[in-house]
Amino acid sequence: MSEITLLSVLGKRPILLDGAMGTELHRLGLPARTPSCLWCLELPEQVLAVHRSYIAAGAEALVCNSFLAASGQLSTDISSSEIDQINTLAVSLARDAAGDRAWVIGDIAPPASPSDEIPDERIRAAVDEQGSALLDANVNAILLETFSSSKQMRLAIGVLKRLSDRPVFASYNFSRSSSGAFETLSGETVCDVIKTAMDAGADLVGENCGSKLSLDDHVELAEHIFKIAGAGRTIIRPGVDAGTQVLDFARAMQTLQNKGVGALGGCCGTTPSHIRKVGLKREWICE
Ligand SMILES: [Zn+2]
Repeated sequence: MSEITLLSVLGKRPILLDGAMGTELHRLGLPARTPSCLWCLELPEQVLAVHRSYIAAGAEALVCNSFLAASGQLSTDISSSEIDQINTLAVSLARDAAGDRAWVIGDIAPPASPSDEIPDERIRAAVDEQGSALLDANVNAILLETFSSSKQMRLAIGVLKRLSDRPVFASYNFSRSSSGAFETLSGETVCDVIKTAMDAGADLVGENCGSKLSLDDHVELAEHIFKIAGAGRTIIRPGVDAGTQVLDFARAMQTLQNKGVGALGGCCGTTPSHIRKVGLKREWICE
């Protein structure tokens, strides 16, 4: 599917994304604390199998396995040409599974922890290196996910918008503060970080994963983001605990679809079963 088609669909109807890659690869034997992107090189057939399972489940877009495939994120003995290779492979594996049935979205993690005092130029350079590799490999859009710092998000969006006119999706990780309000790890409010990403030019803004958030929390958080950005400009991808029922996930996603969310899918803990159930017709889910 072409990027023009993706752009033409954005905001007009919800796009169904895939679910988690990392936790699916852990089920297939990826050791704990090993960045999942390394399996693009070491066990590409497993990455391809996960992508195919999401296509079979009805996903319209695949997030490629490039999270953390950037300078400063992997061990220091990984060269810049290997980083380029991992990103190129991550896109081609997703593209193999997607064929002409789904879009492929490049995935970029936060360049640094929000408390790290990293010079802006280093953040820009890391995003430029990975973003260029993903765009050269012909992704349809790029997702900046699990961010906690609006400053890092603003810098990253700026780099990507200078590199290309392909859509950029900006997604933060939130938790609840002691007062009950949602905030990022760096203590910023939903309103501040979402507005920063919109002002920087993000095509969709939203949240993914969540720290100790229930499905009800995700729906409440999404509604908060809808009020700031307009539902059609949002991307929502909750993470779930192992005990979360697939049907409960689908019902929460149905609530968001009914409100006109721009794109929805799953983060850590979600599986092809979760995505398949979301894709079912509303009548079935409500039975
Ligand atoms: Zn996650």
